[in-house]
Amino acid sequence: MSDVIRLLPDHIANQIAAGEVIQRPASVIKELVENAIDAGATKIDVVVKDAGKTLIQIIDNGKGMSNFDARMCFERHATSKVAKAEDLFALTTKGFRGEALASIAAIAHVTLKTKQAPDEVGTLVQIEGSKVVAHEATVCSNGTSFEVKNLFYNVPARRNFLKSDNVEFGHIVDEFERVVLTHPEISFTLNHNNSVVYNLPAVVLKKRIVDILGKGSDEKLVPIEETTDIVSLIGYVGKPEYAKKTRGEQFLFVNNRFFKDTYFNHAITRAFEDLIAPKTFPSYFLYFTVDPQKIDVNVHPTKTEIKFEEDRLIYAILLSAVKQALGKYNVAPTLDFERETSFDLPYEMNQATPVEPTIKVNPSYNPFSSSSSAPSSSNKSSSYGFTTAIKNEGFGSKELNKADWENFYKIDEIPDTKTVEENKIEFEEEVQESKSYLIKGSLIISNSKSGLLLIHYRRAYERIVYDQFMQQFISTPIVSQPLLFPMEKEVTVQQKNRWLGNQAMLNRLGFQTSFQENTLVIEAVPSILSEENIMNCIDLILEDMAFKEIEKGDIAHVIIQAIASASSKKNNIVSTKESIEHLIDNLFACSDHSFSPKGKRILQTLTLDELMTKF
Ligand code: ADP
Ligand code: MG
Repeated sequence: MSDVIRLLPDHIANQIAAGEVIQRPASVIKELVENAIDAGATKIDVVVKDAGKTLIQIIDNGKGMSNFDARMCFERHATSKVAKAEDLFALTTKGFRGEALASIAAIAHVTLKTKQAPDEVGTLVQIEGSKVVAHEATVCSNGTSFEVKNLFYNVPARRNFLKSDNVEFGHIVDEFERVVLTHPEISFTLNHNNSVVYNLPAVVLKKRIVDILGKGSDEKLVPIEETTDIVSLIGYVGKPEYAKKTRGEQFLFVNNRFFKDTYFNHAITRAFEDLIAPKTFPSYFLYFTVDPQKIDVNVHPTKTEIKFEEDRLIYAILLSAVKQALGKYNVAPTLDFERETSFDLPYEMNQATPVEPTIKVNPSYNPFSSSSSAPSSSNKSSSYGFTTAIKNEGFGSKELNKADWENFYKIDEIPDTKTVEENKIEFEEEVQESKSYLIKGSLIISNSKSGLLLIHYRRAYERIVYDQFMQQFISTPIVSQPLLFPMEKEVTVQQKNRWLGNQAMLNRLGFQTSFQENTLVIEAVPSILSEENIMNCIDLILEDMAFKEIEKGDIAHVIIQAIASASSKKNNIVSTKESIEHLIDNLFACSDHSFSPKGKRILQTLTLDELMTKF
């Protein structure tokens, strides 16, 4: 039989390699910016059109390339950074594989202009799908500029799998933020579709972090500094109260290289244990310096995974360093509680000698009966947190007046025995006619044939609002309520980008907003949102939009879910028999009355048998 094995031609080998190194426009930006940093640039400009699908341009003022190198740099395994195998274990540069430019040139139209300072003229090299189409002298400034057009033009499968511009630009900003956070001493700009997204002057580290996180974020950061013979560690962690619902603000760097590490993340999360709410994530920006011989950056082609020889020791150092920093800056819980107690207590209470609390229960008290619930017949206020105002509220309707709220917060006297007796009789009467009860504003208990039906009040409310809103949204644009005083919220570049990317949908759902730089100005909101729920709703939307893979079809669902969730947080708790029944009817009219829009259980049944086991 004849021989069948052949060597792949270079351009095909390059295309295959490109698949590993270049997954999306953001990868091009990462590679080119890293090259500019390796070339000693102090200023790097990134220009992007259509999330990099049409154009990516990186301009640096680094050392530039000779005429020969300008052509050579596109060859596979062409690198100036590694000369012998040992160099791999003492890397101080970001690149070393000599693969990036060859890969990019295989799948795009690339124009390189470069000049070294002593030279009179520079060099221009133009390459299309690995083929050199021009190589000539040109007039240009010192440094290097790469222009990458029509990415993946010859790999349709890749091009078709690119996500929406909004999502792809999100990836670009992610990569951009990772590099700029490593090099505060370099000034960077990022320009997208002719508007400036970032303009970052050279600064100190903390300032760079604040420039990324947004105005006013410096007070959220706690510094960390620890030097041991294994690792030296500097950086910042976010104070626990600013923990996020998404992992967005978690950055680890080693020897100026971004990396991801679930093991170290675990150490940091452990240091925050008990300080942050479940399912929230602490922010951190931590920079390790270790002997380059003791890490291996070669494990992953895109180099975000790194092997550490002494990872267990580093874990322990990290855990204690973060704990110590949190303690030192008074963010440990004990200190916090002291401060908050003295802050929160009303003046009279502060003066009084504390008395050990005792629990007194009125066994016959029925919170749902408007006639019987007031424990004392003097009627000066209702009892145990339920006011007449709240009892009389219909389903999400009337406003409460000020006096009602004052009553709501008033602590009642414990009723004397006589009143208890009175209540008891009425309570029994009540039982016979009413089928459903609301317990502490959170759980509805209702009779069912087989036993008891338990309904999670807030989730039921959320489901009803969600369904009604979704229905409305499908048939007509949502009624929008202009705000008398527009509200403002400072957002990050990523958040602004996502908001703008979904602007049309947000408008349709009743949000009218504009931006002043990175301040989101909220001018009108869907009329279902009451004023105190607006910010909460905006926060929820911003958080949910951070899950990048939410594609267009899903965004309405995400926003409506946020609206439903926000409006159920501080809804007017209903407790009249009619309104509870009304809520139950509405719930059972919903498409799915068993689960909330976020998939949480709304209903539970307890059979008589189950109940009997309690006795
Ligand atoms: P690597 O960075 O792994 O060496 P690349 O393919 O990214 O591989 O780059 C190949 C070579 O081209 C680099 O080693 C460097 O010598 C040169 N080079 C690339 N970009 C620049 C730049 N912006 N300025 C100067 N030289 C550059
Ligand atoms: Mg490189």
